[in-house]
Amino acid sequence: MSAPRAQASVNVAAIERNCSRLRSELRAGAELCAVVKADGYGHGAPASAHAALAGGASWLAVASAQEARELRECGVSGAPILVMGALSLDEVAEALAADADVVVWSERYVRAVAEAGGGRVHVKLDSGMGRLGTRDSILASRVLALARDTRGVEPVGLMTHFATADELDDGGFFARQLDTFARWARELKLAHPQLIVHAANSAAMLRDADAQFDMARCGIAVYGMDPFGVDPAERALQPALALSSYVAEVKLCRAGESAGYGRRFTAERDTHLGVLPIGYGDGWRRGLSNNADVLIAGRRYPLVGTVSMDNVTIDLGADSSAERLRGEPATLIGIDGEQRITAEDVARRLDTINYEITCGLTSRVARVYHRDGVLAEPVAAAAGASVRAGSWLPHQHA
Ligand SMILES: *Cc1c(COP(=O)(O)O)cnc(C)c1O
Repeated sequence: MSAPRAQASVNVAAIERNCSRLRSELRAGAELCAVVKADGYGHGAPASAHAALAGGASWLAVASAQEARELRECGVSGAPILVMGALSLDEVAEALAADADVVVWSERYVRAVAEAGGGRVHVKLDSGMGRLGTRDSILASRVLALARDTRGVEPVGLMTHFATADELDDGGFFARQLDTFARWARELKLAHPQLIVHAANSAAMLRDADAQFDMARCGIAVYGMDPFGVDPAERALQPALALSSYVAEVKLCRAGESAGYGRRFTAERDTHLGVLPIGYGDGWRRGLSNNADVLIAGRRYPLVGTVSMDNVTIDLGADSSAERLRGEPATLIGIDGEQRITAEDVARRLDTINYEITCGLTSRVARVYHRDGVLAEPVAAAAGASVRAGSWLPHQHA
């Protein structure tokens, strides 16, 4: 039996197409920045980055200095990388050493960049998110002025981040954030036209072209998931990730017998149980106990009982033909014949968002890369990989 116990197959061609699709939504001259933080939303950052660049993204963004360094170590050398997250002094140095841009919103922070040897910075206005950035637009302008005047520091961008871009019914909050940011950025852009003004995530760029400015920072849509949590097909996005396991065992379960921890499933009639070696240790969350479907041989079966760390059980039905499913691949996210399960479907079951479903897949899940079904070689792992060796690189971005 060669099927892996838990595997995420990532179609890099889908990532490329999603990026082309997003670029076609951008207004002329605006750039696409592909967000590959959190290991490319669980898809694998190096492969996602290469595919996004091949699909027309010209920038990459991550959350941490380590993520920027790992991308460089995996041979991502041509594209600028923006580190969007908060950074300690050590991390500022690490980000700059990786030739990444960092975000600043205080004069102290600009000085820290200078002391770490200098680098490119983006000034962040907090227009309403209430996290990173300064709410004070006068201070933000002063930070920009200081960056311009500080030797070794190069101001590259002006940015903000929306709190409700994915909530169309937000009482006008998105529009107010957009207005606050636009009023601040417009004047500075006129004075310094080389600055890259950016605000939009996936939802914002699809929602309102006025939020696109010079660049959109897209994560979720790059991976073919919908930023509004609906079927990705509605916006012509193609999910890049499929999650699979296989039927490791099939057994008869007599009426009254139970399966799994806590006996959360008891058979009402004789049936067959299938066991898939995937569980919450792989990121298939325990909240999916008695609360998910699995696709096998083009048919849909309910997950029954408690999701345990390493296994789940499914109800294959009373028919003795269930015996023949032993060894068959099982799809937990993806397409099998006419049937389809999206990350959005799984998220709805868990009362969460699609982001958390793919980000939550653990390192125990093997990532396999392909281009529309044709296997691609694995990208060199980040740890210790200082060369491009092993990169599948369908298109080189030197
Ligand atoms: C994660 C992130 C993004 C990308 O958001 P998506 O909704 O995945 O497109 C953009 N900007 C910032 C600051 C982020 O943290």
